[in-house]
Amino acid sequence: MKFQLKRLLAQFFIFLSANLRPFGVKTGFCYPFFYCNACPSATSACPLRPLEVSVYKFIQDDNSIKWTFLLFPIAILGLIGALSGRAICGWACPIGLLQRATGKIARKFKKYPLFKKMGKHPIEQYLRYIKYINLIGLVFVTSALIGFYFTDICPIGFLTGTIPTLLLFPGKYGPSSYFWIALVIFILFLILIFLIERGWCRYFCPVGAILAPFNKISLMHITRVPEETFQKECLHCNACSNICPMGIDVVKINRDPECILCGKCIEVCPKNLIEYSRGQK
Ligand code: SF4
Ligand code: SF4
Ligand code: SF4
Repeated sequence: MKFQLKRLLAQFFIFLSANLRPFGVKTGFCYPFFYCNACPSATSACPLRPLEVSVYKFIQDDNSIKWTFLLFPIAILGLIGALSGRAICGWACPIGLLQRATGKIARKFKKYPLFKKMGKHPIEQYLRYIKYINLIGLVFVTSALIGFYFTDICPIGFLTGTIPTLLLFPGKYGPSSYFWIALVIFILFLILIFLIERGWCRYFCPVGAILAPFNKISLMHITRVPEETFQKECLHCNACSNICPMGIDVVKINRDPECILCGKCIEVCPKNLIEYSRGQK
């Protein structure tokens, strides 16, 4: 079976297993990807909320918070990251699945000169640091200093928590003071993912920011065949880079933190020069 079909099946299966609360399933863990525990069918907790609440309560010297609460997301994301880097983004995250769909439309925009130029502009690489700023600034610093959480204005929370609750249990919904800001951010999120393939994952996602550095050390990663063979056989057709949903220059790939291990470059290379590696090379 081709990687892309396997990936689609994995993404659907995980999406379903993330929504089993109506059948009485509640894991007590947090998701290793982005999904909101406020979703009426959620089986687990959001990975960011425990971090934010723990940091805030720790600074407040509030002993009601247990260290295990903080350690849950760190242990889950750390373990999965060390094994497979950012593969969770390519193979499991429901928001990745959503962007897989919207990415088909975003890809059409790449034909237009403005989007082509934007994709190749040097600043594009710097924009990718925004997700680390979101993680450090909004998940940790503002949580600690003023109790303002990223998840208060999170577009994924709006999509997977607020909207389903409003649709299914409107009487139960009590809007937070950040409702309108969250709505505006959600609309911007929608525009972004329809205009830029995996735009949210590339530039803004704090969960992606936690997972991305693990690509540098993970057991599983994407690599090129040995240098000598690569140099001899590569046709420089650029098919690998053109198909990459994360906009990576795959010909130069070397444990890129942006790689979501989707395997598209492997499938498209006519000379089989890209592969999954399960070692430290
Ligand atoms: S970067 Fe974030 S939204 Fe994108 S696939 Fe990874 S966890 Fe999901
Ligand atoms: S480098 Fe290959 S595996 Fe990694 S994101 Fe790009 S296409 Fe997918
Ligand atoms: S698709 Fe294969 S042959 Fe073409 S540039 Fe990429 S690595 Fe080289």
